Amino acid sequence: MIDLHTHTAASDGTYSPAELMHLAAESGLEAIAVTDHDTISGLAEAEQAAASIDVELVPGVEFSCKVEVGTLHLLGYFIDCADPGLRELLDGMVASRAQRNPRIISKLNELGYEITLDDARVHASSQLISRLHIALAMVQKKYVRSIEEAFGRFLGDDGSAHADRGEPMPQQAIDIIHGAGGLAVAAHPVHFRASNEGQLTARLRELADFGLDGVEVWYPEHSVDLTDQLWRFCRKADLAAVGGSDFHGSAKPHIKLGVGRGGLNIPLEILHRLKSRLDRC
Ligand code: AMP
Ligand code: MN
Ligand code: MN
Ligand code: MN
Repeated sequence: MIDLHTHTAASDGTYSPAELMHLAAESGLEAIAVTDHDTISGLAEAEQAAASIDVELVPGVEFSCKVEVGTLHLLGYFIDCADPGLRELLDGMVASRAQRNPRIISKLNELGYEITLDDARVHASSQLISRLHIALAMVQKKYVRSIEEAFGRFLGDDGSAHADRGEPMPQQAIDIIHGAGGLAVAAHPVHFRASNEGQLTARLRELADFGLDGVEVWYPEHSVDLTDQLWRFCRKADLAAVGGSDFHGSAKPHIKLGVGRGGLNIPLEILHRLKSRLDRC
């Protein structure tokens, strides 16, 4: 079995890249993709750890992109970390995240919540501070009961403390993933905000026109119906179907590596099929 969507302490997961690789081995996984948010800084350590264990590492990244209805996440697999275009985009995203975070904090302060960037930083294991770290700080200060409440009321795309971050457009991110020799996959379409199957497939079709290579079909929050719709879409549009848990360690304790909420079982064959697309590029 495999898991093609995981986060390390290089973004907002809680395991170091080496710890994550060892957890994958202990969990009996044959391969995992490390897909940190807008950073590849954990990949070197993960690669080093992978060399001494029997788990294949798929080098990856999860890009946040700007779309009309908010943000869309794109997974990039098999990317060449030395690619200048990729590095330039990622450097820009580090800078724009650093500019955005104080604006979120100011909005929360204006709303009457006493919170600083340092309160969020406590929850981060690297330089990268994500909204998840801000949400964890809000839970700790008892301003909200859960991370979900923090996103629903304040930090989500419609939240009262939301701030934009100048993300790339999907077409730009897909082109850069391709330029770095990688494959671009639409992450967790459950978050597309589509109200019906027609809307969902229209969005996916638009991404397919930009050169999308695959769709994350198996995901802990996907219903049986949605999984089925996405699987059928992939067959029709000749896209790769992939899946992963979106593991974040103890930051999202209900999600376990490889199995998600318990029922996610993605066979190695899925990775073989994805890889076969690299030959088409
Ligand atoms: P950022 O990259 O800083 O914009 O933050 C995105 C992070 O917030 C990702 O780790 C997501 O896992 C997390 N996130 C986004 N929306 C939600 C949500 N509704 N509930 C829980 N976590 C979320
Ligand atoms: Mn995350
Ligand atoms: Mn995501
Ligand atoms: Mn993710």
